[in-house]
Amino acid sequence: MGQAQNKDHQDNAMVGPYTLPPLPYAANALEPVIDEVTMKLHHDKHHQAYVDGVNKALEKYPQWHGLTIEELLRRLHELPEDIRQQVHNQGGGHYNHAFFWKCLTPKGAGKPSGELAKAIARDFGSFEDFQKKFEQTGTKQFGSGWACLVADPKDMRLEIVALPNQDTAIGLGAYGIMLCDVWEHAYYLNYNNRRTEWLKQFWNIVNWDYAAQCFADAAQN
Ligand code: MN
Repeated sequence: MGQAQNKDHQDNAMVGPYTLPPLPYAANALEPVIDEVTMKLHHDKHHQAYVDGVNKALEKYPQWHGLTIEELLRRLHELPEDIRQQVHNQGGGHYNHAFFWKCLTPKGAGKPSGELAKAIARDFGSFEDFQKKFEQTGTKQFGSGWACLVADPKDMRLEIVALPNQDTAIGLGAYGIMLCDVWEHAYYLNYNNRRTEWLKQFWNIVNWDYAAQCFADAAQN
């Protein structure tokens, strides 16, 4: 896959030094799928730590300040070697979480529509087949990571990939369309070790309008 960017992710809050973007809904808005305590820990503590971590990594390299987090990750191979892994981990964590919050909504439980729906039917057979494959990918990811729906910039074909740890769609050269956090911190308080149950409940809070917008933006690039 080639170079890819989702224009939509490049808002000002994403330019370094980075700040924690506020949740686009109340911390309890996604209950019962995500309980308020999990949401607050996940956003206010975990995501904040990634933001702090990438800022700290960049501290002594002011020439690398002022890029969007997406641009920074795309140019990872150009970064000084002593901070590359840290930016990959911490910057990837910031990018993935900022993307993840937008992929969720209290008004979920819908299905994709328009071009994205057509592409899902084309590449997975049906929405139900897509869901099954997405759940399997998330369940099978060993240890921490993400299940992510991506589009190939070459032909906009859709694929479901497992992203270990804080790997990103950017690192694959793909367009991220939608993703689910399968790190234990995302579900453990509510679902304990039952990751598959978390992935099944996840469908009730997916923001398909946002995913469709990511797909449309990517197709225009
Ligand atoms: Mn997380």
